[in-house]
Amino acid sequence: MKVLVINAGSSSLKYQLIDMDTQAVLAKGLCERIGLEGSCLKHTPSGKDAVTITEAMGDHSDAIKLVIDALIDAEHGVISDMKEIDAVGHRVVHGGEFFNGSVVITDDVKKKIEECNVLAPLHNPANLIGIEACQKTMPGVPMVAVFDTAFHQTMPAEAFMYGLPYEMYEKHKIRKYGFHGTSHYYVANRCAALMNKPIEELKIITCHLGNGSSITAVKNGKSVDTSMGFTPLAGMLMGTRSGVIDPAIIPFIAEKEGMSVDEVNNMLNKKSGVQGISGVSSDFRDLEAASKEGNKRAALALAMFEYQVKRYIGFYAAAMGGVDAVVFTAGVGENSIDLRGRILSGLEFMGITCDAEKNNVRGKDAEISKDGAKVKCFVIPTNEELTIALDTQKLLA
Ligand code: ADP
Repeated sequence: MKVLVINAGSSSLKYQLIDMDTQAVLAKGLCERIGLEGSCLKHTPSGKDAVTITEAMGDHSDAIKLVIDALIDAEHGVISDMKEIDAVGHRVVHGGEFFNGSVVITDDVKKKIEECNVLAPLHNPANLIGIEACQKTMPGVPMVAVFDTAFHQTMPAEAFMYGLPYEMYEKHKIRKYGFHGTSHYYVANRCAALMNKPIEELKIITCHLGNGSSITAVKNGKSVDTSMGFTPLAGMLMGTRSGVIDPAIIPFIAEKEGMSVDEVNNMLNKKSGVQGISGVSSDFRDLEAASKEGNKRAALALAMFEYQVKRYIGFYAAAMGGVDAVVFTAGVGENSIDLRGRILSGLEFMGITCDAEKNNVRGKDAEISKDGAKVKCFVIPTNEELTIALDTQKLLA
């Protein structure tokens, strides 16, 4: 079985074609600037160099057609006919309270995804456009939706409710949803496999640290709390997002700076985080370089980031009544040796250790805790596309 995994954004579309018999990625790529001038497709067949196809893409249907053309192309294609694509798995950001797992896409499912548009106005409409473009271009091919929020639907009410009037939840569905669920699910299960233990017997803290960061408490295989909230703005300080702040700061800034709510919201999402603190960059490689050169604000941004991850580790150990493993994943978690080392140091009282030599690793599965440690610490590269493809295969079996 071959599954095409689609992650559609408002002007971009990422894809991977995965052969489920071997779990090998046959090709992957990215369409950029859809609907804009200068749109192009970067297509990478496995084991070969990337090719860039510059062609106008008026909408997502044009983009999907170009992707299929690239997949069946005589030179850089990897299949000979579109019919070889057995199913499509779509990443959908928000499933609200409708979906606690992946589902085969029907008209009713699309309607519910649309109802969640208000909860994720930047993402869900684009995800839906991607679904409809695929349905138009590949009629009859079964499709599955995999939600970023679904894994967190197991959180208990005391973890997902905010201290607001209850009507805010009833009327507007204001609650914590959490995101990056596919990633937390994948790395938690991989962690259990590496520990050779059933996930049902483990308490795992998964740290997805990238441009967007979230941390999840996974108890007995279920998400019981996570750091992102009603939107991905909550939780940790991130690349450009503030993470949790005192909510009273929002009207205060609006008044002092003469800004509208939209402008403050934009500042919290795009101009804050490690970028806002350092004034240097949202990229952790730049921050580490600047900090080494003595830039105090870059050092402060990194120190804040480390402190906040540490704080969540303590928080979630308390929430679960202990912790058996801590996992680092995503761009920063998989690659930043320094940061992992600093986050884990000082947690020895909890049985958490970091072995400097074992921690000298990037982008591959590795245990980084000291031999015989009470709490196992791991680096596990995330694989959201494979998780989407596996769910798609499972649902269509
Ligand atoms: P997202 O998917 O949220 O856009 P990623 O998971 O791809 O983000 O992570 C991107 C981040 O990973 C960037 O901020 C980048 O600085 C960081 N990163 C990548 N490689 C390294 C590295 N070698 N050291 C430190 N940070 C890294």
